[in-house]
Amino acid sequence: MSVILKDLINFIEERYPKKYAEEYDNVGLLVGDENNKINKILVTVDITKEVIKEAIENKVNLIISHHPLIFKPIKNLNKKSSFATMIYDLIKNDINVYALHTNYDIANDGMNDVISKKLNLKNVSVLEETNKEKLYKIITYVPTKYAEELKEALFNAGAGCIGKYDKCSFNVLGEGTFRPLNGTNPFIGQINKLQRVEEIKIETIVTASNLNTVINTLVKNHPYEEPAFDIIKLENTLPQGLGRIGYLDIPLSAKDFAMQVKKIFNLKMITLIGDKNKKINKVAVIGGSGSDLINVAKSKGCDLILTGDVKHHIAIDAIENDIVVLDATHFGLEQVFIEDIYTLLTSNFDNIEVMKNYSKQPFYFI
Ligand SMILES: [Zn+2]
Repeated sequence: MSVILKDLINFIEERYPKKYAEEYDNVGLLVGDENNKINKILVTVDITKEVIKEAIENKVNLIISHHPLIFKPIKNLNKKSSFATMIYDLIKNDINVYALHTNYDIANDGMNDVISKKLNLKNVSVLEETNKEKLYKIITYVPTKYAEELKEALFNAGAGCIGKYDKCSFNVLGEGTFRPLNGTNPFIGQINKLQRVEEIKIETIVTASNLNTVINTLVKNHPYEEPAFDIIKLENTLPQGLGRIGYLDIPLSAKDFAMQVKKIFNLKMITLIGDKNKKINKVAVIGGSGSDLINVAKSKGCDLILTGDVKHHIAIDAIENDIVVLDATHFGLEQVFIEDIYTLLTSNFDNIEVMKNYSKQPFYFI
């Protein structure tokens, strides 16, 4: 029971395309061979000697990490360094390594959407736009009684999402005509006879990254031998980027919100920078190190930004700028990656085993 790594990568990259990653980043297959068979995966935020040891002991053949193991240019693989030893151990034990970093942070339903959902934020939008995804309109015509089934298949393949609404479509009843010619095997009608069929015209929308999957699904699920469909490129785009902005259900004091965050993410500690009594309604979130976006959050009217890795001078500036900052540590928020990827894999592949490693919080809180 296994899956070819290439197929697994295609599945992952359809959701979190590599092209979303920041320019400085290094995502994708970092060690290994995409033709390898995978039957056991370990999901982690960071790859350390301990993580590799666990992978070897459990005969894991793929580690999926959030932080890329190979990031800076490698000067040598001299075994005197622990990095080189790690690479040797991975290769010797046929362990592939795959990284999902800023492409996961930026993608819809990636890191920052997962964090926003856990906090139950409303009207969520992008904090800082990094790119705009192209959108396409898909139109097809299907006999009335097959319309619902086909639409459901298209929605499941990723069509019909507009903002926080899914299953969006427009449907009109009409009459389709066609004449099956010699050599056809028509679902309805007879060879060389003009056929009239009551059909529904279905219009829906799809992002560029889901377009191929949706078209393949349409062709596979449409009852006709030669389904008619149109793909129309739109001027509309879907903004994508780092971090999210959203609203609390009920405004809270900064301190009460901090306590809520601590509980939701099961944190040992959270640091509040700024006025603990400030009423918080509009919130920015960014997993990892989001200090660079504190001013963006302020300029967009956020009362608070939740992130990690906030340094002293950044904290001083934030107080001067009257925005509350919550530092939940880098790992504190990014640990959601582990459960999210675990759920994605286990709910889509029943022929592979998936393990989780939560060991890498480098700080010990006293
Ligand atoms: Zn990170």
